[in-house]
Amino acid sequence: MNISIIGTGYVGLVTGACFASLSNSVTCFDIDPKKIRLLQKGIIPFYEPGLENLVKTQKNNKSLKFSLSTKKSTSFADVIFLCVGTPQSKSGNLDLKYIMDYVDSLCNILSQDKLFLSNAKARKFIYIKSTIPPGTIKLLVKTLKKFHLDSKIFISSNPEFLKEGSAIQDFMKPDRVIIGASHPMAINIGKDLYRPILWKSDRMLITSPESSEIIKYASNSFLAMKISFINQIARLSDSVGADIHDIRKGVGMDERINPHFLFAGLGYGGSCFPKDVKALEYILKKNNIPADLSSATIKINSDQLAYFFNKILRFYQDKTIANKEFGFWGLAFKPNTDDIRYSSAISLVKLLSKKVKKIRDYEPIAYKNASDELKDFSNIIFVKTPEAAITNSDSLVIATEYAEFWNYPGENLLQLRDKCIFDGRNIMDKENMESFGLKYFGIGR
Ligand code: NAD
Repeated sequence: MNISIIGTGYVGLVTGACFASLSNSVTCFDIDPKKIRLLQKGIIPFYEPGLENLVKTQKNNKSLKFSLSTKKSTSFADVIFLCVGTPQSKSGNLDLKYIMDYVDSLCNILSQDKLFLSNAKARKFIYIKSTIPPGTIKLLVKTLKKFHLDSKIFISSNPEFLKEGSAIQDFMKPDRVIIGASHPMAINIGKDLYRPILWKSDRMLITSPESSEIIKYASNSFLAMKISFINQIARLSDSVGADIHDIRKGVGMDERINPHFLFAGLGYGGSCFPKDVKALEYILKKNNIPADLSSATIKINSDQLAYFFNKILRFYQDKTIANKEFGFWGLAFKPNTDDIRYSSAISLVKLLSKKVKKIRDYEPIAYKNASDELKDFSNIIFVKTPEAAITNSDSLVIATEYAEFWNYPGENLLQLRDKCIFDGRNIMDKENMESFGLKYFGIGR
């Protein structure tokens, strides 16, 4: 099939490259000329494991192209995936401007396209991968009706569940594909598109657009709620001297609960969870439904950073800290991504920099985005190895759980002048660290 991808960010580029690898002819469009120019040269504007190779291969065999022209995106394909951003206001309301703008311009173009209008078989099928509040598809259908195009253009919801850091695998081996559509042709095309990756499993669910829109918010909010739940339990664990690792295992052994997303730490971040939980809170309130669970999830998450930061301040009694130098490992919101949007690690390093003499940051993947974000913090410097971050430092903070930190040798950490580790991701073995004479502070243990 010919496929147009509108919005070539994380979601759009992964979707485009993966569909191209499934024998489709794909063109990715974006309004950002810099991004498109880079992609046309084969340069990927962000980091995602395996994506560069996949894009290069599909680009070389001409099944993946990049373009700036909105007009071309409407004529090139009958199947269009909308993957534009849906930014959020402070209240939690989503700005659907990019979605509305595209559908408006598509209708403007097609309502004057005589060939399209006169061809009884000509149709366009739009699938929205961007995260959109319930009712958005209904709203867009009103636009189609205004242009008298509702019998030729079909808009469906197809929420994206990929995780940055494992996006290609998530796309090619999904837990589920949700198609929220009302028209049989849109459902059949959706089934055809995903057949190559779903033929072995029965993991496609066809729903109404409204259910599909809610599934996305409910899924992300539920996972975020699990994280806030275990973070609250970790505070109880701290206060009575229990061990959150044992608690997590014990709770997670219950198959009704499962152990995933039950890791205590600095709280959730990234471009999805904070935005989606806030949006669900807003949507519930807008529908006059109390949003206590979403509100509590958000509050516990934002308090978690202060909770951990206070461990550092308490250790130093807030007096001596001004003369201290810290090593700081990790700034991305999670490992294997260069995304620092709503990263708890970034918030923590900013808080810490106001209190201490110097911070040496080591971040293996997101260093470019992180150093741009932190360029005005004069006491933060970037170093190229974990070792360089701890050399001449008094203490170490671990803020992102990169694999290379988990088994870092305790004897190397003894060079920290105060022999102190603040582990915001609970990745170090506490007993092992203490056996070296190091002081270890995790969360809930
Ligand atoms: P992004 O900011 O990385 O990319 C969005 C792109 O859309 C940008 O490159 C922007 O220039 C482009 N754009 C905006 N208006 C356009 C238009 N009219 N025509 C063409 N391009 C246009 O965003 P993202 O992280 O890929 O997220 C996209 C959507 O998917 C959001 O709604 C997000 O909530 C959702 N989502 C994101 C993830 C994720 O992990 N990043 C996962 C699931 C769902």
